[in-house]
Amino acid sequence: MGRSQRVLEGLADITPWQEELYIDLHRNPELSMQESETAAEIARRLESFGYAVQHIGGGVVGVLENGDGPTVLFRADIDALPVKEATGLDYASTKTATDAEGNTVPVMHACGHDAHIVAGLGAAALLADNRDEWAGTYIALFQPGEETASGAASMVADGLVDKVPKPDVALGQHVLVTPWSGQVGTIAGPMLSTGTCLKVTVFGKGSHGSMPHLGVDPVLLASSIVVRLQSIVAREIAPSDFGVVTVGSLQAGTKANIIPDRAVLLLNVRAYDSAIRDQIVAAIERIVRAECAATGSPQDPEIELFDSYPLTDNDPEVTAKVTAALVAVLGQDRVVTLKPITASEDFSIIPDAFGIPYCYWGFGGFAEGTPTLPNHNPGFAPVIQPTLCTGTEAAVAGVLAYLGKEN
Ligand SMILES: [Zn+2]
Ligand SMILES: [Zn+2]
Repeated sequence: MGRSQRVLEGLADITPWQEELYIDLHRNPELSMQESETAAEIARRLESFGYAVQHIGGGVVGVLENGDGPTVLFRADIDALPVKEATGLDYASTKTATDAEGNTVPVMHACGHDAHIVAGLGAAALLADNRDEWAGTYIALFQPGEETASGAASMVADGLVDKVPKPDVALGQHVLVTPWSGQVGTIAGPMLSTGTCLKVTVFGKGSHGSMPHLGVDPVLLASSIVVRLQSIVAREIAPSDFGVVTVGSLQAGTKANIIPDRAVLLLNVRAYDSAIRDQIVAAIERIVRAECAATGSPQDPEIELFDSYPLTDNDPEVTAKVTAALVAVLGQDRVVTLKPITASEDFSIIPDAFGIPYCYWGFGGFAEGTPTLPNHNPGFAPVIQPTLCTGTEAAVAGVLAYLGKEN
């Protein structure tokens, strides 16, 4: 039996508290960068396992030093979303919170980060319970604010790199709708896209709806922009490259007979290559300015980038090593090769801050053959098992691929 299998013999003992904690976290989600109760609970558990715990940039880091050997960092994100839960689960969230704009919003773990916390704590517990099976330093990192692309940067800004030993490698995982629950999957190279959002404000000149010739209509201007933006991916990006431009929000005006003085568009951009992302953003800016000029807009448009996510680009060597470890522990039939995913993550900001390679993988959340709903959907309801056990097994397998001692 391999080292990971011996460590995972303790899995059945921790499953009861893992399930109980999962239900508790699911019922009590917290918005990005407001995860104080969640962080306190994580810190309390890590301390009870024997970790040296620090609060860094809104997140929690537990370090377990266990003799000479490599240092491995495993990251789990902990925040929830402003989504009104509609899963019908008896442990569904009914929580609300005040968002950054001061609005009261519903809160739900609609991206499965509650499962990430529980798997991360489970791995931390098993590694602490089995110190004779490995050597080195284990860093269990719990990151806030993934959904707003702010948490990894916040931890780095708060001195993460100087506050913990430098890892040799960083690992992370996410619960997904593909593969099925019980399986894990990853891919070398770009796994998650780089993404950014843009807020575009264009200006017109207000007028009575009956007198359009006395105004400049920002509704028509914004509409032309929306249509023209479709040409970026269709006509400017090579067919072999991947890009997405979505206008998720278009707001203007208040009344049928008033031509308003501005329109605001919210855009989302994805690519598997930072250069292509930059090309798309430049094309958006060019089109917006040109349409404003064509309309006779009285004022330059305002274009603001926000929620920018880096590329998640798995190191081929680390991915090969982690994949071999996952196969050894889970069996070949539970490990799949994923296609790149169009979602984005801020995970890579952490390994990039240390200048170290990384591997990120997915674990399934839905029972084979059952209907699935995507992450962020109000009905997103992963099955508790084997999801939590698989996430814990994968974390232990990935970490022990690096943490010293031969099998
Ligand atoms: Zn998410
Ligand atoms: Zn997520």
